[in-house]
Amino acid sequence: MGIGWQKSLILDQIQAVNSKVKTADFIIIGGGIAGASAGFELCKHGRVIILEKEGQAGYHTTGRSSAIFQKSYNNGDPLLNILVRTSEDFLRRPPEGFTGQPLLKPRPLIYIATAENQDSLDSLHRKLSDIDVKTHFVSGEETRQLLPVLARKYQGRILREQGAADMDVTALHQGYLRAIKSAGGDIITRAGVTGLARTENHWQVTTAKNNYRTPVVINAAGAWVDQVAEMANISPIHIQPLRRTVIMVALPKGTCPDGWPLVMDTVEGYYFKPEQGKILMTPGDEKLMPPSDVQPEEIDIAYGAHFLETATRLKVDKIDHSWAGLRNQVADGHPVVGFDPEATGFFWLAGQGGFGIKTAPAMGRITASLIMGKGLPQDMLDLGLTEDQISVKRIK
Ligand SMILES: Cc1cc2nc3c(=O)[nH]c(=O)nc-3n(C[C@H](O)[C@H](O)[C@H](O)COP(=O)(O)OP(=O)(O)OC[C@H]3O[C@@H](n4cnc5c(N)ncnc54)[C@H](O)[C@@H]3O)c2cc1C
Repeated sequence: MGIGWQKSLILDQIQAVNSKVKTADFIIIGGGIAGASAGFELCKHGRVIILEKEGQAGYHTTGRSSAIFQKSYNNGDPLLNILVRTSEDFLRRPPEGFTGQPLLKPRPLIYIATAENQDSLDSLHRKLSDIDVKTHFVSGEETRQLLPVLARKYQGRILREQGAADMDVTALHQGYLRAIKSAGGDIITRAGVTGLARTENHWQVTTAKNNYRTPVVINAAGAWVDQVAEMANISPIHIQPLRRTVIMVALPKGTCPDGWPLVMDTVEGYYFKPEQGKILMTPGDEKLMPPSDVQPEEIDIAYGAHFLETATRLKVDKIDHSWAGLRNQVADGHPVVGFDPEATGFFWLAGQGGFGIKTAPAMGRITASLIMGKGLPQDMLDLGLTEDQISVKRIK
């Protein structure tokens, strides 16, 4: 972005002061992990304002995840693996002063299958080797030591993936937001965007309380990204918000699950792991929903309890609490990151499905690099990522 752009921004700022419109170099719509990670990288280049419609940033999908860091995703999808790999260093070694606690805590990860489904483990093993994710088979005694309550029918042979961890999502999200504020940016809550209009050099962004002006608007509105685009008369990417349920199961007194692994079933798609002395379990549901404050349904809660009783010798007497969140994705399951081809200065950061926390560092870096006209970051190019794979053009 050259001198002309800076000059027009200064003119915009003068006009804005006169008309009491707030200005920023970058306005981000949505204060979840996507908006926060983008803001963290962009505040190194100019003033950032994040506009969040709820009273709390992270209220929607970001605050409802399972907080898992796992090197593979979606049966070893190579593109998603690049995004995880290029996020890993940040998550393991965040910048000085970013957070007071580790963002990752190691957690063993095992894949299970019954005797008749062992070929699913072999197939996964091959796919993960292809993307250089280390796995090995474990049987008998070691399996029982890892998870003493695993049902007998799964104990024959399991696949173990290296490098998995529990993530501290709050620490990551708050670290991003703190850094934006320290750089002079603003996180404005209860500021739902209701209008977007492009004039010659900038976007005029309307909320109930205030108007804003910026040359670049970043659409990081999660399940609402198509609604935001519609405000600007931009065609949609057809985001699909898919509801996923999580239940927290209380265990009998004296049971200490803290060292147990994260367990993923390769056939049914459910997974569970210890969380604060309880078991966090999801049945792996994917129900298409309108963008909304989704709540869990009884049937999915019941499936969660059923799968836990199938995979282990645990009896589900008490569900402590449950929630649901939206995993927002486009048809090919890959993220959508880049400027819209139809509208100057309108940038999409969408479609993070069930992998948006562990890939946030990479997605934030891609966003800033593309907006600053530098193309993709070199470490991602080196691993084979191309702009086409994540572009808006591939969808429109
Ligand atoms: C059950 C579940 C488990 C998951 N587990 C994992 C996991 O283990 N690991 C992992 O990496 N990922 C996981 N994910 C995925 C991850 O949570 C998401 O990919 C990520 O949180 C998406 O972040 P986001 O910022 O795009 O969306 P959101 O957090 O939903 O943020 C979008 C924000 O935009 C705001 N907004 C919308 N419209 C407007 C408007 N008009 N004006 C202003 N603001 C607006 C919303 O209020 C919202 O806060 C999981 C998801 C679910 C549902």
